[in-house]
Amino acid sequence: EVVYLNGRFVAPDQAQVSVFDRGFLFADSVYEVIPYYRGVGFRLQQHLDRLAYSLRAVRIQADEDWAAILDELVRRNGGGNLSVYLQVSRGSAGYRTHTYDDSMRPTVFACTSPIRDIYSDGAEQIQGYNVIVTADLRWRRCDIKSTGLLPNILVLQQAREAGADEALLVRDGLLSEGTSSNLFVVKQGVIYTPKRSSEILGGTTRELILELASEAGIPYQEVDIRPEELATADEVWISSSTRGVMPVLTIDGEPVADGQKGPLWHRMFDLFTRFQHRLMTGE
Ligand code: PLP
Repeated sequence: EVVYLNGRFVAPDQAQVSVFDRGFLFADSVYEVIPYYRGVGFRLQQHLDRLAYSLRAVRIQADEDWAAILDELVRRNGGGNLSVYLQVSRGSAGYRTHTYDDSMRPTVFACTSPIRDIYSDGAEQIQGYNVIVTADLRWRRCDIKSTGLLPNILVLQQAREAGADEALLVRDGLLSEGTSSNLFVVKQGVIYTPKRSSEILGGTTRELILELASEAGIPYQEVDIRPEELATADEVWISSSTRGVMPVLTIDGEPVADGQKGPLWHRMFDLFTRFQHRLMTGE
């Protein structure tokens, strides 16, 4: 296994970063997680567009040939089904200081870990999620994919200790998203999802769901969703790059509708499978 650090592919124990790196001291850094299936990046360009957006938003200047670096990292790690983690921090002044200037060189780190190809496995293999609903303790720029994930981590741990897989977050009386996923609610054949704003991350999987829904003529609306509305939902899904579109079966211990994976979820999962197949085979 090799990782990438500042221009070099090295063994993980050879990769070293300064203790004064601002990623370490302040979470002054942004990241992406990108699935590769059979060695090919899934929605790579969308991830790189979002990376550019995050970097611009926090004013980190880093302009690398990201696709070339990540493709090469995946190749060196044997191709196949891998999740790529890419982090760009503002770098280090050589001492601890809140302020920064443009002379700092960003620290670029990437590594891979194995993932399952959920879409080739088939819908029966998808277990579904149990979730809790809890307060959104994050800052107000959740559109930036920052590594400052302490609120997400604390709330996910709370979910795990309650026997759940993910937490849905509520701010000012509205659902935003999960700790590492976007949210979808289905009622009477219509897909509802919170609109894009600084309260949520613009998920690449969220975007793909809306694209696939459009193509298939499934109606959707980007709207405010109140937590009370979950009780009357026909289906609830969450989405992320590594989990795809995942049905939520219980919320705070109560089943969503009949507590089974719903018909529209099956349809969307099928659309995803076909999309991925088209991508992999070029058909
Ligand atoms: N929302 C949050 C807070 C996330 O951390 C993530 C990804 O991990 C997502 C949504 C889903 O984004 P994507 O579909 O691009 O993986």
